[in-house]
Amino acid sequence: WAKAEGKDRWTLFDTERSATEVAQFRLSASMPAALEHEEFYVEYQPLVGLRAEDVAGVEALVRWWHPELGRLGPDRFIGLAEETGLIVSLGRWVLRQACYQAKYWQEEFGAAAPFVSVNLAVRQSRDPQLVADVAEILHETGLDPGKLQLELTESAIMSTADEPLEALRELARMGVRIAIDDFGTGYSNLAYLRHLPVHELKVAGSFMEGIRDDEPDPVDEHIVRTLVELAHTLGLTVTAEGVETREQARRMAVIGCETGQGWFFARPGTPDAIRSLIVRSGTEPER
Ligand code: C2E
Ligand code: MG
Ligand code: MG
Ligand code: MG
Repeated sequence: WAKAEGKDRWTLFDTERSATEVAQFRLSASMPAALEHEEFYVEYQPLVGLRAEDVAGVEALVRWWHPELGRLGPDRFIGLAEETGLIVSLGRWVLRQACYQAKYWQEEFGAAAPFVSVNLAVRQSRDPQLVADVAEILHETGLDPGKLQLELTESAIMSTADEPLEALRELARMGVRIAIDDFGTGYSNLAYLRHLPVHELKVAGSFMEGIRDDEPDPVDEHIVRTLVELAHTLGLTVTAEGVETREQARRMAVIGCETGQGWFFARPGTPDAIRSLIVRSGTEPER
């Protein structure tokens, strides 16, 4: 009896899983055409200076407007694109979009314009064409290399072999900023950080849970303090991710983070929304 029931369960489980697998497979298969038909678009979220309250940077976050499924977040399709390898062309497309957009801000606000921060998938960091692609896009768009930041996750950057690391060094030499995304969630070798061509640490949003006035988590706060101290010792700037409340923004400012990113400041939005934020923060257009 039990065995029969167990067997049924497994059958049910298998059926469900394969339905999901079919859906995932379809989504994967439709991605190249979606890229060609411009179903993807980019939203922008500000990295706000915790002192001056200026828009120091802007993260580019890709979305998919699927004709049947509607709006899909990156968590639904980036993993699939990594598996199929499409991430390399999708990532290049996002980079180009973001650089064109940042160039508009550069033209309007000059040196005070925010940098644009673009996520780099593991596959992209290992793509031998990466440096050439970035150089070409910077040239094509006319964006100052210092107005581009590339974000790699901790695990991506730590597992990076010699050649991709050399690519990151080359990008850094070109003046591009390199950031480590979601810092504190992986298994970083902290000592190794000093050997990486990195300019910024983005402290993972998961630490923000314990950063609060009513029931602060002393461990979260201590870890964040330690990370910020280490980053500063290495000459890196720090962004607090996932800042949802005023308390968190204030506490992270006290801890010494340069910038904060999160719903407290702004949800990801259109370039127009970013422009209004830049203007509202007191940055004057240059022309
Ligand atoms: P991420 O790079 O760590 O980006 C931050 C994520 O946190 C974004 O989710 C953002 O919308 C969300 N977020 C921002 N503020 C808050 C907040 O206050 N609270 C909470 N709970 N969340 C907040 P999103 O847009 O869904 O992106 C998810 C992940 O997908 C990104 O995490 C990034 O790893 C990846 N991703 C997005 N765009 C790209 C891309 O163009 N290329 C690659 N390779 N990955 C991308
Ligand atoms: Mg990111
Ligand atoms: Mg992040
Ligand atoms: Mg994330």
